[in-house]
Amino acid sequence: MNSKFLDFRSDTVTRPTAGMLDAMMSAKVGDDVFGEDETVTSLENKLASMFNMEAGLFCPSGTMTNQIAIKCFTQPMDEVICDQTAHVYRYEIGGIAYHSAASVRLLYGERGILTPELIEPEINEDNIHYPNSSLVVLENTVNKGGGKCYTLDQIAPIHHLCNIKGLKLHLDGARIFNALVATGDKASAYGKYFDGISICLSKGLGAPVGSVLLGTNNMIKKARKIRKAFGGGMRQAGFLAAAGIYALDHHVERLKDDHEHAKALAIALAKTSYVQSIMPVETNIVVFEVANGSAQKIVDQLKEKGLHCNTTSASTIRLVTHLDLNPSMIDEAIEIILHL
Ligand SMILES: *Cc1c(COP(=O)(O)O)cnc(C)c1O
Repeated sequence: MNSKFLDFRSDTVTRPTAGMLDAMMSAKVGDDVFGEDETVTSLENKLASMFNMEAGLFCPSGTMTNQIAIKCFTQPMDEVICDQTAHVYRYEIGGIAYHSAASVRLLYGERGILTPELIEPEINEDNIHYPNSSLVVLENTVNKGGGKCYTLDQIAPIHHLCNIKGLKLHLDGARIFNALVATGDKASAYGKYFDGISICLSKGLGAPVGSVLLGTNNMIKKARKIRKAFGGGMRQAGFLAAAGIYALDHHVERLKDDHEHAKALAIALAKTSYVQSIMPVETNIVVFEVANGSAQKIVDQLKEKGLHCNTTSASTIRLVTHLDLNPSMIDEAIEIILHL
């Protein structure tokens, strides 16, 4: 069933396990647009209570949960503050402008990590010329930052600043469980810091589809309506939600294996002459810079040997570890890396 090559392109490439498929097959479903799918409701409630938030909303993608959150937290002509590497800005097709008619203020964090010192000067004062700064978006882990994590100690002062200044704070937590496993922070401590949290089930957790948006009851009520307007109201979605519940029960602790695998790859890469530098590995993403020649050339050579990955710029390459890459496949990959 799984592809024959070693697939390090993304943690989205995993296939459901036999146990996950069983859970999907036996899910109790109903029409979720009528609020009658108990498996969807149970997934939404499970994540909301894990993160100490009031309510959840199951959506087809993380792009949708982020874009709905941004629409909930802004008015047209407002401004969203985020890092220049942010997924909400770079990889959501200008959705902030399209859906929310808001502008974006880009900051330059270290590996995508923002601080109150970076944010505060960029919050607009009340002036007839300026857009109203209404929302800060953080990403944890930072995808473009090579899977770098925020700790709650770093998030608390950002929350404090947003609170004083009257801005909402949203978390793009596509890989929040990787961050929780790496930092040891508790999911339950997150609720008090964020107005919205977006969580992907289809990345490291290994579900085939789905993301959940968390917020207050009122916010999620509004979000549910926006989801319908986006065309994201789903019917017997419990079959998919069951995969998410299974992933939360079985695939969180094992993320530490992916992190160890990523570190082992980085150690191997550091021994080669074609690698210039490697971003310190914190989770399941390895980003490295090639010494000379183009990154694409190295990607092509790796692919020739059966290791598939992607460039992230003309000189950088990303490898992502996941559920479908077992220890012997990591050993194989290390051999390929060492003898390229
Ligand atoms: C993958 C990802 C998302 C959501 O992507 P979808 O493919 O729309 O589910 C959001 N933010 C980050 C940081 C991501 O890596």
